[in-house]
Amino acid sequence: MGTRLMPDLPDLIPLAEAQQRVLDGVMPLPAVEVGLAEAAGLVLAAPVASGVSLPPWANSAMDGFAVRARDVEGASPDRPVVLRVTGEVAAGGAQLVLGEAGTALRIMTGAPIPPGADAVVPVEDTDAPAGVADIPDRVAVFTPAALSANVRPEGSDVRTGVTLLRAGRALDPAAIALLAATGNATALVHRRPRVAVISTGDELAPPGEPLGPAQIHDANSWSLAAQAADAGAEVRRVGIARDTLEAVLAAVRGAAEWADVVVLSGGVSVGAHDHVKEAFATIGSMALWRVAIKPGRPFAFARATVGDREVRLFGLPGNPVSVFVTFELFVRPVVRLLGGRARAYDRPARLARLAEPMRGSPGRLHVTRVVLAADPDRPDGLVARVSGGQDSYMIASLAAANGMLFIPPGEDLPAGAEVEVWELRPRDD
Ligand code: AMP
Ligand code: MG
Repeated sequence: MGTRLMPDLPDLIPLAEAQQRVLDGVMPLPAVEVGLAEAAGLVLAAPVASGVSLPPWANSAMDGFAVRARDVEGASPDRPVVLRVTGEVAAGGAQLVLGEAGTALRIMTGAPIPPGADAVVPVEDTDAPAGVADIPDRVAVFTPAALSANVRPEGSDVRTGVTLLRAGRALDPAAIALLAATGNATALVHRRPRVAVISTGDELAPPGEPLGPAQIHDANSWSLAAQAADAGAEVRRVGIARDTLEAVLAAVRGAAEWADVVVLSGGVSVGAHDHVKEAFATIGSMALWRVAIKPGRPFAFARATVGDREVRLFGLPGNPVSVFVTFELFVRPVVRLLGGRARAYDRPARLARLAEPMRGSPGRLHVTRVVLAADPDRPDGLVARVSGGQDSYMIASLAAANGMLFIPPGEDLPAGAEVEVWELRPRDD
């Protein structure tokens, strides 16, 4: 059996069980108050009630003339009603009062309805010029106006005291608009999860640097940083740790001072230079599994306590495709829950029809990278093709894929079979 660190754990556990163990005990991070500029994408930690009504006062929905509906009864293009124009209310301008019967005030969209007026006649229904023009002395009105025509009533959008947004709402642009419009300069949200990313490997050189003999460019810390940011995290790239226990330990210890989640790639297998498991066991309490998935079988997970914070440590396999897939399956859900999102798994899960036969892996769920496209034969249906070579070092076919398709352990599927997929990005077909 060799030197397994946790000899009591089963050899190969199913994906769902591994995911459950990783998510066990993950709680939303503490609430913090942030300005609206930083709030986008964060999740409300408490409901927001409105302190104001919107609109705060009745205002005009059109550029036109504020009138008394009674004054323009029976108006028509043949028999227009001519009103004397006594001034103008513009958005943000001075408050005016509508004068005696037979008068009108020019009014602009969003300007307060002047006391005395009960309707707005659009400029298009008069003889007044649209656009930039001097205030006319009189205006001929060609149409009657119903009571409250083109008036946006006070409170018709938001009433004072109503719940604007519930706790747990991720602040998308529309939610930010509502907070700003109701005068909220800040929001109480769950702190953004902090993810630190470390690549391990003596063969790695940063992109942009020339390669020495037997060197390759570090892909994983860049893909992981992009995935973590996409999952809603604040990201620090620690860079490349050399293949010594001391280097890996120092990198993880440093990262854990700041991060809620530390993600390493490489060095997690049983090679002579694989130190991640020992580093994790030194720093935290180690849970090591081999998960029954392909790619991504070697996988290490540990929890460490730093001060009053719990830090989660992920040791992902080194191959770039395995890194990508295991982040999707394990790390993204943790980042989402830490950030206060209710659902750990958010990728749209669908059924797709295979355009070609696909082979599974004995004893392991095969996470196949596929290109998903609209099914010409079924409305709203999807068809899946493999995106290219499926070896875990093949980055080009990973980049070509827009979905991950799950082939059950040991199954070889014929063309036409319906299989579960996750959509990874919006399709452009
Ligand atoms: P390891 O698990 O460290 O043995 O790595 C497995 C494979 O992934 C090896 O071929 C490594 O060269 C490769 N690899 C490890 N880390 C990276 C990285 N950051 N970027 C690209 N390839 C990597
Ligand atoms: Mg390595």
